[in-house]
Amino acid sequence: MTHTETQFDILDALAREIERVQTGQAVTTTGKAVTAAEVRDHLRRYDFAAPVPLDVLFEDVARMLRAWNVQMNHPRYLGLFNPNTTLASVVADALVAVYNPQLAAWSHAPAANEMERHVLQFIGRKLGFPEGNVAAHFTSGGSEANLTAALLALAKRFPAYLQKGLVGLGTQPTAYVSEYAHNSFDKIVKHVGLGTDALRIIPTNDALQMDPEALRRQLEADLADGCTPFLVVGTAGTTSAGVIDPLPALAGLCQTHGCWFHVDAAWGGAIALSEKWKGLVAGIERADSVTIDAHKWFFVPFGAGMLFCRHRDVVGETFRVRADYMPKPQDDTQDPYHTTLQWTRRFMGLKLFMTLVEKGEAGFGALLDGQMELGRYFRGRLAGAGWQLLNPTELPVFCFTHPAIAHDRTATDRVLQRLYAEGNLWISAVTLKDGQKAFRACLTNYNTTAEDLDLVLAELNRHIGQMES
Ligand SMILES: *Cc1c(COP(=O)(O)O)cnc(C)c1O
Repeated sequence: MTHTETQFDILDALAREIERVQTGQAVTTTGKAVTAAEVRDHLRRYDFAAPVPLDVLFEDVARMLRAWNVQMNHPRYLGLFNPNTTLASVVADALVAVYNPQLAAWSHAPAANEMERHVLQFIGRKLGFPEGNVAAHFTSGGSEANLTAALLALAKRFPAYLQKGLVGLGTQPTAYVSEYAHNSFDKIVKHVGLGTDALRIIPTNDALQMDPEALRRQLEADLADGCTPFLVVGTAGTTSAGVIDPLPALAGLCQTHGCWFHVDAAWGGAIALSEKWKGLVAGIERADSVTIDAHKWFFVPFGAGMLFCRHRDVVGETFRVRADYMPKPQDDTQDPYHTTLQWTRRFMGLKLFMTLVEKGEAGFGALLDGQMELGRYFRGRLAGAGWQLLNPTELPVFCFTHPAIAHDRTATDRVLQRLYAEGNLWISAVTLKDGQKAFRACLTNYNTTAEDLDLVLAELNRHIGQMES
């Protein structure tokens, strides 16, 4: 560090920001509208010519992040699976930046690689995966984990794919997702060279779950057409509606048709750590691979996704490379650059490791159970106030509308614009079956209380009242 850098009291500065975030001082607004011009005007002072002292710079950057940011840490940010963050995870990420371990080769970062392995094995056990043969690693997020799963599925079904590519297969591979699957799969089929025509979108039943009968019919029709189904994706906690697909039925169909079964549990997978609620994702243990985002319902900063796979051999074949300049593996370890998409690898797992150790298994499960309870409470309050809930799920995602605006196609968005301008809370909108527009709210912040949800409901009721008049 240079002399001017050491003048800066990092602990003091970070402690102040943490205090602001945790006491809500930083987050009196959940994101009042700001224009790009306003932010760019402000940034003009930074021309990169004269150096700026770190303490001055820190204060200004922190102020920008307070003023011009939708606040994930706000207890009334009921947003898009974006969490508040644990203190342990904040400390962990700072520590990672200080040591900057390089995880690509095990021998460069034994402590970091083994801490990641340790916490991934723990979660793998919670998913019911067989011990020993599980390959698991951290990814930048759910999208990279899903992409990895698609590559593994291709490599397993078509061993020639790794050498000859898709053109060498002589068949049309097809993949299957529900209409509520995450849209990362729209990109993934392009990335792996399949194109969007190869993605079969399976309709859902009244409960917004992938309809296994419709899946079976599509699989059989594609087989009759000479296609080769290779991947079925079940979602455990859809992004729109928090719905869990019928995992056991999908697993059975995959078995019958020799398809890879991937479960995208980016947000919902955390519930496997709740003794009380883990049954909701029963069937996940039959998956060939599972995606879970640590940076969603595990309350750690971005980006930290996880991929679990029960076929170590396929993982090895898919990602192994020769690089003479890299250090050699040691003992029974594997070098992550041989087993994952990334090369340089950040220590993504420490924030999860430290969060789970610091809270303890029961303590962490209690955070999730508390959110499940609060979810029930909010559903009850909504129904009591005349709102209609449109998504049948036990997970704390709420898609709802009100009879007063049911026939007004733009009312939902107009209410949202007013809510965003006032900045007391943040929810979003989704379009469900038959084009039905609904508000969408979700609990992914363990500091949210019943009082926060009462206030959210009061605000919603007030706006609906204004619409009617
Ligand atoms: C968020 C989400 C993803 C994408 O994960 P990123 O971490 O944003 O890349 C994939 N699937 C589901 C079900 C999600 O909710």
